[in-house]
Amino acid sequence: MVIRADTPALASRATDVASSPVRDILALTEKSDVISFAGGLPAPELFDAAEIKKAYGRVLSESPHRVLQYSTTEGDLQLREAISERLAHRGFPTRPSDLMITTGSQQALSLVASSVLDPGDTVLVEDPTYLAALQCFRSAGARVLPVPCDAEGITPEALHELVARTRPKLLYLIPNFQNPTGRTLSLDRREAIAQAMAHSGAWLVEDDPYGELRFEGSHIPWISSLASVADRAVLLSSFSKIMAPGLRLGWLRAPESVRRACVGAKQAADLHTSTLDQAAAARYLKDADLDSHLARVRSAYGRRRDALLDGLPQALPAGSAWSTPAGGMFIWVKLPQEYDATTALRNAVTKRVAFVPGTPFFAGTPDRTTLRLSFTLHTVEEITAGLGRLGASFAR
Ligand code: PMP
Repeated sequence: MVIRADTPALASRATDVASSPVRDILALTEKSDVISFAGGLPAPELFDAAEIKKAYGRVLSESPHRVLQYSTTEGDLQLREAISERLAHRGFPTRPSDLMITTGSQQALSLVASSVLDPGDTVLVEDPTYLAALQCFRSAGARVLPVPCDAEGITPEALHELVARTRPKLLYLIPNFQNPTGRTLSLDRREAIAQAMAHSGAWLVEDDPYGELRFEGSHIPWISSLASVADRAVLLSSFSKIMAPGLRLGWLRAPESVRRACVGAKQAADLHTSTLDQAAAARYLKDADLDSHLARVRSAYGRRRDALLDGLPQALPAGSAWSTPAGGMFIWVKLPQEYDATTALRNAVTKRVAFVPGTPFFAGTPDRTTLRLSFTLHTVEEITAGLGRLGASFAR
């Protein structure tokens, strides 16, 4: 008789992706008649599909042997040169050799986590913050602690105190039009954060996928570009929100030691990001006009943001408050104290409209009255209709 042993166990760090109530409700919103403010998806009708197609066609006909071959882990040199130029144009001198191309900035985040974190290390984050960053740090075995925030983001005094008390290994933040709150750190805050980090033994990971989606005001220097943190700052960004997320192209700019460790980690993960996709993106940046494309995207998103903001006073219960983002994709809402956003979502779905409750974005005690609305996916007319449904879902 064959005695079978128990089914082998998963690693203890394997993330639990079992069903969650919010995921189950949001699954209902995939029906075509639901107006969803839930996802963080760019508007597909704004993709520059014709120019992207041309770029693929050109690299495939001109250099098929190169673009269909394996390539280096650090990434396509022409693509890195184009990114360096964009960074330099914004006042952050960068050599192509300071950069590494990744499979989306999500991979950059996971490579950095595996390169600098040991199990038990402390990671400080904004509260609330990007959900998948929390998952990434937790699966690296880190202890994730929230830094108290106000309407302007991380409060420098709280950061100083936590740095001194918890000796973190890493601070993670999203400087522009943060996911999920939409808020942007002022230059004063950035300088104060740099000062706190310069006195700590921690890496700074500045994740900026939304910075180029600014509707008003002007670019604020990255914390990573401030001299005091040059030896400890890692800047991440992505082509997902400015070109198309399906390309899965992101990048990181890091001091040499981290970059080398990330190259090693990436070799183990996927050797390199698609040679063809990188070459096509580099070709697009050379031949097409990304800045004109971005101007169209910004203007459409700005109008969508305004439509959503204009309708919120009527749609939300009296006493609600919300952020007014100067760019990006998200508005953060706080309902009056007696509301629970997960219950509110259940009601909203019966009216064929959806949003994401704020609870999963918190590293600390969740605020159950909060929710995130994304304004990018729908036209102004659809947003107006969605606001009507939202208002109906809150009507008593
Ligand atoms: N960081 C933040 C803050 C995000 O919101 C996202 C995706 N929405 C990512 C990273 C990952 O994006 P991607 O992998 O598509 O570059």
